Amino acid sequence: MKKPVCFLLTLACLCLPCGVTACAHAEEARNRYEITVEYVPETATLAGTTKLTFENRTDEEISTLKFQLYPNAYRKDATYRPVSKAYESAAYYAGESYGEMVISSVNGAKNWEVMGEDENVLQVHLERSLYPSEEVVLDIGFLLKLANVHHRTGVGEHTVNLGNFFPVLCAFDKGGFVETAYYSDGDPFLSECADFQVTLTLPKEYTAAATGEISRERTLERKKEYVFNASCVRDFAFVLSDEFKVVKTETSGNVVEYYYYSDKNPQASLAVAAESFAYYEKTFGEYPHAVYKVAQTGFCLGGMEYPCLSMISDALWENKTAQARAIAHETAHQWWYGAVGSNQIENAWQDEGLAEYSAITFFENYEKYGITREDAVRDSLKEYRSYYDVYGSVLGRTDTRMMRHLKEYLSDYEYKCLSYDKAVVMFDTLRKSVGEEKFFAGLKKYYKENKGKIATPESLIGAFERTGVDANGFFDSFLSGKAIL
Ligand SMILES: [Zn+2]
Repeated sequence: MKKPVCFLLTLACLCLPCGVTACAHAEEARNRYEITVEYVPETATLAGTTKLTFENRTDEEISTLKFQLYPNAYRKDATYRPVSKAYESAAYYAGESYGEMVISSVNGAKNWEVMGEDENVLQVHLERSLYPSEEVVLDIGFLLKLANVHHRTGVGEHTVNLGNFFPVLCAFDKGGFVETAYYSDGDPFLSECADFQVTLTLPKEYTAAATGEISRERTLERKKEYVFNASCVRDFAFVLSDEFKVVKTETSGNVVEYYYYSDKNPQASLAVAAESFAYYEKTFGEYPHAVYKVAQTGFCLGGMEYPCLSMISDALWENKTAQARAIAHETAHQWWYGAVGSNQIENAWQDEGLAEYSAITFFENYEKYGITREDAVRDSLKEYRSYYDVYGSVLGRTDTRMMRHLKEYLSDYEYKCLSYDKAVVMFDTLRKSVGEEKFFAGLKKYYKENKGKIATPESLIGAFERTGVDANGFFDSFLSGKAIL
């Protein structure tokens, strides 16, 4: 995610857990989702089914599957609100509004219940235990009621954001499925790569920016139906609008599309996406999909990443530098989150810090944007030191650990200063210390070794170690809070 608009020029995203065995290789067998949904604007609802074909690829016997129901965080009585107090007025543009996800049926199971810390988990008990390599097919019926909110899941003034819109299987780690509450600081999401076929019906005036490519479309009187396909993606999202216009370009064999409704110079916005996309592909490794999409939308934060799709807040359009930084940051997430997953709940720095620093290296190579590496790193250091002083004077001490759970952050500000700013300083310090060649070779290796997986911090540190960098002590000093900056 890219951080709140009021943290000008700071980009933020949040990611999830570690050590999880995901689709280790793009060619490996994966779980398969077949989702069929219809969006009805009059009722602000999305109704449909999620059919999951799940194979037990663990070494354990599994009798229960767990799914995250992220949209339940938008309930009136939710304990964990998706939007922090600081951003409520920007998010809830029409005043208080609530949404929820109602599960209507689960076919293929013995029984099921909605539970978890905050009605955030669907627990499905299987008819019989599933042994390693065995498969089960579940069909989950659901109704998503959307709040009027400029956030990941909701109806906005110009668009409908459909991030996290379906029951998604929790990642499996350390012998169980990883559940998470919806923390407003960060991106509380962790899922393994899967294959998707998504059929979407919507009024024919609407256009859908989606994860995945259209394999079929047809018009049904006043509606239209799209079928999208995506392979090896860890989530699937849409942005819908009846105002969307689209421009596109091609770069190194991939198509980059830009969906917008209010942009005086859409080609310039498209250029940031396409140029940063090409830079990351050259610098880190090949993008594993054919199409990448950027959508202008209502969002109280700067933006949000989904596989093959970035949401960028229209609140940034008055500030071209902030807009460019948001697009470059979210595009970098296609490498750090989309392809190489990480535990955004416990190690947010791992994808946010890398996405932020990758964007800085892009601007460093494209001088026309007027953002230099020196200025950007200096600004991050200044922000971090300011946080250190303020929290030190208020609390008596400052907790500078970067390795921490999202629930341990005291505020959006602390989260941003540690997961973005301190991480930027960390990566830049490492680069200065080991030199250009080893630094970028280490990132290339990290990408190559972890594409399609959920990487641990050790995966990142190990990639540098295997390129001849003695990185263990260096990372530990930053991540554990010992380094004095
Ligand atoms: Zn981000």
